Amino acid sequence: MVKAGEELGVRYVTGAEALSVEGVRGRATAVVTSAGHVECDEVVIACGADSRALLTPLGINVASACAPTRPPPCPRSATPRSRR
Ligand SMILES: Cc1cc2nc3c(=O)[nH]c(=O)nc-3n(C[C@H](O)[C@H](O)[C@H](O)COP(=O)(O)OP(=O)(O)OC[C@H]3O[C@@H](n4cnc5c(N)ncnc54)[C@H](O)[C@@H]3O)c2cc1C
Repeated sequence: MVKAGEELGVRYVTGAEALSVEGVRGRATAVVTSAGHVECDEVVIACGADSRALLTPLGINVASACAPTRPPPCPRSATPRSRR
């Protein structure tokens, strides 16, 4: 996967923590990391549960996208009252 990404122009910055994502008009322009400022045209955020901390400041709510839907209410019994 790494090799395939590199062939497509992906740049990997390893051993660094992503601190924030900068953007203009809804487009990512840079990632601020513990190893410095990395300019970009696009960014893949795959930080698992920690993705929320990077996405929330951009107005992207991961919680609502991933939250399980509320289970439907218990159906009323199909059994006619007369048989209960
Ligand atoms: C206790 C537990 C048990 C689970 N059991 C199962 C199971 O049995 N089966 C199953 O299918 N799923 C299970 N899951 C869910 C599974 O772990 C996740 O769905 C899966 O790991 C998500 O993969 P991911 O690549 O998106 O994120 P992750 O595997 O969480 O990887 C995210 C990576 O990003 C890195 N990272 C985080 N923040 C930053 C940052 N700011 N900068 C740089 N790097 C960062 C992390 O160090 C990590 O290496 C379990 C989860 C938990 C918590």
